[in-house]
Amino acid sequence: MKYIYGNWKENNTLRDVNLFISEFKKQKMPNDVCFGLAVPYLYLQKMNKKLQKKCEIGVQNVSFSEKGEFTGEISAKMLCDFNCSFSLVGHSERRQKFKETNEEINQKMLRCFDFGIMPILCVGETKEEKDENKTKKVLKMQLTKCLKDIPTSKKFMVAYEPVWAIGTGVTPSPKDVEENVSYIKKVLSENIKVSGICVLYGGSVNPQNAKELLNGKSVDGALVGGASLNAKKFVDIGKNLQNIRR
Ligand code: PEP
Repeated sequence: MKYIYGNWKENNTLRDVNLFISEFKKQKMPNDVCFGLAVPYLYLQKMNKKLQKKCEIGVQNVSFSEKGEFTGEISAKMLCDFNCSFSLVGHSERRQKFKETNEEINQKMLRCFDFGIMPILCVGETKEEKDENKTKKVLKMQLTKCLKDIPTSKKFMVAYEPVWAIGTGVTPSPKDVEENVSYIKKVLSENIKVSGICVLYGGSVNPQNAKELLNGKSVDGALVGGASLNAKKFVDIGKNLQNIRR
């Protein structure tokens, strides 16, 4: 099974959402590919109702607290009333533009576990860190801090997203994707003591490059930004992975 998750970010008006839904419904879905879409909160209910059977619907962020004086925040407890199946946690745009720390991200992971929302933890190095050969050090540090004291029986996913590859059209080589995803799995098993965790790759994935980029034996799928805004492109990414042999 491969997993293709989309991240709409701060995109799509209600009109665009309706168009996406009708386009998505026309697509023939590939076998053995599970799709998910992280949508703006406002569309959670509608998307869930319309696409439930063909696509998991989740959100892009969640509060670190359960409730209280945190104006503007949405809690995991609220999300579970709306059948939210997953939330991205620690996306690099949240880390960089909203100054989220690994400690806050850890709290967000814990809140998701408390309320049955599957977190997808995003990790990845910046261009400077890559150039200084610090990728593995950064990945290990982010994983150990963000996954501190998590219940090891709960389901979650990790997305390896090199910051320099997000929205740039620049991607790592398929060999580097495999090497870093497999390193993440090693840290998960040796340091966090969890097994069977799916690790996705994210950063400028599109229908043309998906098969080659995601071909590594450790790579379980993709987290897709820009290309997930177009229903056909989004589903085509999954279709192009169908024939990867293991
Ligand atoms: C993302 O935002 O997680 C992402 C991978 O974006 P893009 O596919 O546009 O690079």
